[in-house]
Amino acid sequence: MTGALPLVCPRCRVAIHAGPAGAACDACGAWYPACDGVLQLVAGRVGAAGFDPHYFPTLAAVEREHYWFATRRDVVRDALQAAVPDLAQRALFDLGCGTGGLLRFLGDSGIAVAGACDAYPESLAIVRRLVEAPLLLVDEGRFPPLGPGYGLVSLFDVLEHIDDDSGTLRHIHSILEPGGVLVLTVPAHPFLFDEMDELAHHRRRYRASELGHKLRAAGFEVRRLTHFMAPLVPLVAVRWLVRALLRRRRSAQRRRMELRVVPGLNSLMRAVLALERPLVRAGGLPFGSSLIAVAARPR
Ligand SMILES: [Zn+2]
Repeated sequence: MTGALPLVCPRCRVAIHAGPAGAACDACGAWYPACDGVLQLVAGRVGAAGFDPHYFPTLAAVEREHYWFATRRDVVRDALQAAVPDLAQRALFDLGCGTGGLLRFLGDSGIAVAGACDAYPESLAIVRRLVEAPLLLVDEGRFPPLGPGYGLVSLFDVLEHIDDDSGTLRHIHSILEPGGVLVLTVPAHPFLFDEMDELAHHRRRYRASELGHKLRAAGFEVRRLTHFMAPLVPLVAVRWLVRALLRRRRSAQRRRMELRVVPGLNSLMRAVLALERPLVRAGGLPFGSSLIAVAARPR
């Protein structure tokens, strides 16, 4: 099932090989079973702190239609096709795959999927129904138990949840083969950081310059770094103003409203956001509520 993936033991970090029933570590004797098609590659506690599990079924449903997810998946596919000339020779491994809608879309777009990992059994159970590639349950708050040799790794809206983002980028650099590529998205503009980021367990939002600096410091060559979702910046600013003037809603209720798909409005937002795609594809949008980067480990 996961035989082709370079994996390491999450306890002792020695290379291990997985069979259909699970993976054994010859060094420390640990056994990691496969349950319902997901390899349980965990040493300790699985995800609990960084995400609310009850939110996954909602997310899976919303991810198919909501303009934010629809825009992000188009932008990610465009960036991969534009900045990875040998994309057809690479298979994508997704770190922190969530409920898997984006991975399924990329697979349907003709991009080979090597596998994915996440720290939440609830989300992986949903992903299992969407993609056939190997799936790993991994520990939250630790570097994923992957060995060197990956050709294409993705990190979609994950880095902002991690305390040690620079260490995580260095770790990803170490598991990429020479010439291997990382594609990532993060929320942009620290001045937009608000209660909604806190509810989503974000540690930070990024300046483009900061993200570029951290990627280069980790050893990456940045091929592409651009904002996207520019029309959302004034909307978020207006939202902030309206909230300051009116009484604040309870935050959990507001989060649910953010994730609601309102049919007419959703179509309108998708159309408005589609207008920026040529600029994003060309790699040069100076502002937008998200950032996308494509970076490579030099050969
Ligand atoms: Zn071990």
